[in-house]
Amino acid sequence: MEPNFVHSTCPVCDGNVFSTSLETKDYFLTQEPFFIVDCQSCGFRFTNPIPAENKIGSYYKSDNYVSHSSSKKGFVNRVYNTVRTYTLKQKVTLIQKRAKGSSLLDIGAGTAHFLNQAKLHGFQVEGLEPDSDAVSFAKQYFQIDLKPLATLPSFDDASFDVITMWHVLEHVYHLQRDLEVITRKLKRDGVFIVAVPNIDSHDAKHYGPFWAALDVPRHLYHFQKSTISLLMERYGMELTEVLPMKFDSYYVSMLSEKYKGGNLMKAFFRGFISNLNAKKGGYSSQIYVFRFKNAF
Ligand SMILES: [Zn+2]
Repeated sequence: MEPNFVHSTCPVCDGNVFSTSLETKDYFLTQEPFFIVDCQSCGFRFTNPIPAENKIGSYYKSDNYVSHSSSKKGFVNRVYNTVRTYTLKQKVTLIQKRAKGSSLLDIGAGTAHFLNQAKLHGFQVEGLEPDSDAVSFAKQYFQIDLKPLATLPSFDDASFDVITMWHVLEHVYHLQRDLEVITRKLKRDGVFIVAVPNIDSHDAKHYGPFWAALDVPRHLYHFQKSTISLLMERYGMELTEVLPMKFDSYYVSMLSEKYKGGNLMKAFFRGFISNLNAKKGGYSSQIYVFRFKNAF
């Protein structure tokens, strides 16, 4: 096995006492076992150990993992495309309602479907993306030039009204270092919008080690409302809103049933029940809206 990286301190609070809470595996690709530990000081849950940063590439099989395809073949693809169109519009409405201005940076922009929608609604868009196929797609179909992640420091400080990370933060290796730079690029009255899976949700608890949104080792962190708030406090930001992603419970339950060897009808039921139970631990995935404390 390749050499691993072992966290010796908690990526949220720097505490150094952890207990293993879950043994799971990479159901998506390699079937290798991984552990999820809980920080005894702050409750943050993270994958530990994780593959060394230069080895993680082999855990992404781009054909399946990144959905480049916009072809409308087959029922599943039609549903997928319909849901995507709907959620893209929802995301743009969300930022329109909260942004003080029009400059937007999306980190981990993928194929830039979101940025394209935002651009059509008047946003001046910038995007960062490591995958070269996704970058070519964005250029060809949307005429959007995505930049490498390493160009982040070159943007002026306090230059964006909105910075978004849609299901990206859970993949970031240098969490503290990168968040320090990211938050510096945001205007004082800007908004930082982060969507991540919620390990405190009903479907997470129901599926346990089979919960597809654990997605080890690609997901390095397993956030919930309390721990993501604590993390962002380090950068002077406070959580101002939590918004649901109601389709994720169905999708995640479908995959979880597959990993568990269950059936797909159960997944629809579970997705529905998870959304009903969201008052307790929140939705399967959630959108967190952060603003600087004392912004005005
Ligand atoms: Zn901690």
